Amino acid sequence: MAVSGDTDAVVSYNLDYRSKKDDAWYTSAVVLENGKQLRVKFRDFVDSYFDEIFSIADFSTKSDLQEFIHRFRRVSVPIEDNECSRVIADMVVCATYKGDGSVRFFDAIVDAVHYKEHTPEKCLCTYLLVWQHGPEEGNITATSIEDICLIIPGAVDPQVTGFAKLVKEKLGLVYKRPFLSRKTSPNETLDELQDLDSAGYSSYVGSSEGKGRFYPQLSDHDRDLGGVKETGCHHYIILENLEKDLSPTSMMEFVHVQTSITPQAYLFPSLSAETFARGAVVVDSRPKLKRIYEFLSNPNHFIVSSSGRPWVIAEAVLRTGTFDTNLQSCQPLSENKNTGSGLRVVRLGTEEYKRAKQRKDLYMEFRKHLNGLLQRLDTEEKKCLPSGAKK
Ligand SMILES: [Zn+2]
Repeated sequence: MAVSGDTDAVVSYNLDYRSKKDDAWYTSAVVLENGKQLRVKFRDFVDSYFDEIFSIADFSTKSDLQEFIHRFRRVSVPIEDNECSRVIADMVVCATYKGDGSVRFFDAIVDAVHYKEHTPEKCLCTYLLVWQHGPEEGNITATSIEDICLIIPGAVDPQVTGFAKLVKEKLGLVYKRPFLSRKTSPNETLDELQDLDSAGYSSYVGSSEGKGRFYPQLSDHDRDLGGVKETGCHHYIILENLEKDLSPTSMMEFVHVQTSITPQAYLFPSLSAETFARGAVVVDSRPKLKRIYEFLSNPNHFIVSSSGRPWVIAEAVLRTGTFDTNLQSCQPLSENKNTGSGLRVVRLGTEEYKRAKQRKDLYMEFRKHLNGLLQRLDTEEKKCLPSGAKK
């Protein structure tokens, strides 16, 4: 527990702090001293010689304060080998840099992921990182899961918040909401300052569609469009083996939580003999769909319902077309029971994963038979056509 005004007391290294000296992230603790300055202590450099100190007197503009706020976040966490599917394209992560013999941490955007099927003990996937700052800024490096940490959103140590409030008072930055206009100051610090009382830091970290200096949002033009014409308004994939009473809202929420992309989702009514339903996930750009597809088709996890039924993409096709956005309302209300809230990701190495894999294999076997039957039906149907109408 940290004690104000006494740097010799036991401090809690509960923060990642981006150093003023080299811009790298370090596991740190803060101590508010005499209500005038904030001392940052480094877990791995305990000598007070290395401490970095912020004095209220040092701040003269709100961008100083914004920069200060952005130097702190919760401690990033390493990822287990069997959890490698948590890292997805376009996510911002904290990555290990070992270029000059030292081990330091900088932020990077995951440009692409090459998932491989592997054992729970050893991840074999490759992650392409675009470094956002540090010695490799702007460069792309291929890395493995052990060099990646997840950025954790949420409020940081209250001493940071307390100090920021003192600075805010000194600068006279105590805003009243009626005078705020997002339109006139979209990229300014106002929102973050407003949010200091709550978990305002979350606007900066953890989201793969993050904002701020180190989190540029990638536009579709920055991404490989895969040579597909962007003629249609919608991009979608068809999902199979869904629960018949799954609610589209749950599908949307689930995909959003997992990928930071908010799609439209549809569940199609199924035949009474069918034990499952089909649905679609629809977005407005192909890169977004690609990200969702990569997440859903990752071989190291399954998306399952509360009964353990795994989602299946039986046809690995990213479709483009115009979707009728009113279609969602066509779903019979009686079938819309919102059981989708039980949707979850089951990861490699767990019993649930094994069962989900069995069920998916079973479904794929069924799908193969069905495809064969459909082909036969098509052939037989053509035989019934009058000669001349046959293609
Ligand atoms: Zn892996």
